Amino acid sequence: MTGATESEMRAITTSDERRAVDAVPKGLFIGGEWRDGANGTLAVEDPSTGEMIAEVADASVGDARAALDAAVAAADDWAVHPPRERGEILRRAFEAIVERANELALLMTLEMGKPLSESKAEVVYGAEFLRWFAEEAVRIDGRYAVAPNGQSRLLTMKQPIGPCLLITPWNFPLAMGTRKLGPAIAAGCTMVVKPAQQTPLSMLALVEILTEVGLPKGVLNLVTASSSARTMAPLIADPRLRKLSFTGSTEVGRRLMQQASENLLRLSMELGGNAPFLVFEDADLDAAVDAAVIAKMRNVGEACTAANRFHVAAPVADEFAERMAERLGGMKVGRGTEQGVEVGPLIDDTQRGKVAELVDDALAKGARALVGGGRRDGAGYFYEPTVLADVPGEAKLLQEEVFGPVAPVKSFGDETEAIAAANDTEFGLVAYVFTTDIRRALRVTEKLQTGMIGLNQGIVSNPAAPFGGIKQSGFGREGGREGIEEYLQTKYVAVGAPGGPS
Ligand code: NAP
Repeated sequence: MTGATESEMRAITTSDERRAVDAVPKGLFIGGEWRDGANGTLAVEDPSTGEMIAEVADASVGDARAALDAAVAAADDWAVHPPRERGEILRRAFEAIVERANELALLMTLEMGKPLSESKAEVVYGAEFLRWFAEEAVRIDGRYAVAPNGQSRLLTMKQPIGPCLLITPWNFPLAMGTRKLGPAIAAGCTMVVKPAQQTPLSMLALVEILTEVGLPKGVLNLVTASSSARTMAPLIADPRLRKLSFTGSTEVGRRLMQQASENLLRLSMELGGNAPFLVFEDADLDAAVDAAVIAKMRNVGEACTAANRFHVAAPVADEFAERMAERLGGMKVGRGTEQGVEVGPLIDDTQRGKVAELVDDALAKGARALVGGGRRDGAGYFYEPTVLADVPGEAKLLQEEVFGPVAPVKSFGDETEAIAAANDTEFGLVAYVFTTDIRRALRVTEKLQTGMIGLNQGIVSNPAAPFGGIKQSGFGREGGREGIEEYLQTKYVAVGAPGGPS
């Protein structure tokens, strides 16, 4: 995985940890002011110890409404704020984040658990969305056309959609935020953001940075809450809200879509995944194993893009599984702040319980654990890196998102069978394909039912690319040229032309 940088080589002390947590504001951020939550506080814990590391504000429904009030009040001014200045605020935020990458990475590791080097990679990746959208802010345009009958002119403009609600998950506490905040700020939208209650600290730090670099009051408002359903429902029902962008589970996404339908909100839904990783007989096996380790183990397997199941051509399936077992079995598991650790804890005991249940189900149905297969004893929510061979078709983990460090390997006979197996899921976020045959690569990628494909590559995420899924993985795109479109609406003006009807 990513190698440790020089600063990460120095052992992290408890006072480093305390300093990183203490530096972050813990309140709600509404209309440019930090304030307490009417419902007191909610605890944030370190998943590697189960101990509380901070308490942040717990918002009431009234607090959430106040946040939307502030976003609405700021909307008109922000919509006409010069695009260059909107972009420059984002650019300054990008620079500030990169400058503070080590301290932000430590904060992220403490609340989410992933190894420091991975947190640092997320901080840099997350910051890149701000740089990308800083550049997009000045490229919002429209068009001008002559009507086909020549009698009028068609003027098309793109305008900010208005106040947005942005709800983010715990697995990428910073990057899932910047993928939404970046384009919303660039487009001229105001917003209320609600991070997951397990990992609010990274978002609190991000909001503080955006404020420090000059984001005007009311443009960005932050609410943390122990009951997301209770606090968010009134906002989703409020006619002043114009858009909901959600990243999280398909189950919650479906519920939010139902609520949003009453208010006909524009929606972006970045939901769950069940990524197949296909290895054909002609693949470069070394490259496939390297990429498989990344696609599986990045973020402790808690990524929507994580390879969920490995479909491998029968002649190379055993070798692939054994090499994966050797690699995953050799990974150092531990607290993400410790040097050399490659696999941190899962986010909480519920998540660990789900992983254990899926593995136990596969083992009971005949799969073999080549390595791992159980929880790690002691404090924290650790689960051993696991490789399962001979996974039967009826095992639940082939259908459900595992969200943990578990690699099930299943063999296939031919290309048709591989494609059918890959598409045999309600999800459609990403797939990975390993082959050296260009004709096969094109055939297979055209037939895969996913929004993204990693072709001979184990990572697809890139701020310059349109990230998103199809089927039950949702719709809408984050990043790329498409990303800003999610925050713009089209207005058309029919212009009476010289000589046309008046
Ligand atoms: P989750 O349980 O759906 O929660 C996601 C966010 O929604 C959290 O902020 C949560 O708040 C909030 N939430 C939950 N119920 C809500 C409700 N009734 N009303 C309003 N907000 C509500 O998902 P998660 O467990 O945090 O994240 C993991 C899931 O996210 C996985 O399925 C993963 O695949 C998906 N994901 C998708 C992408 C993508 O781009 N497609 C990227 C990353 C993750 P609280 O936690 O504070 O209650």
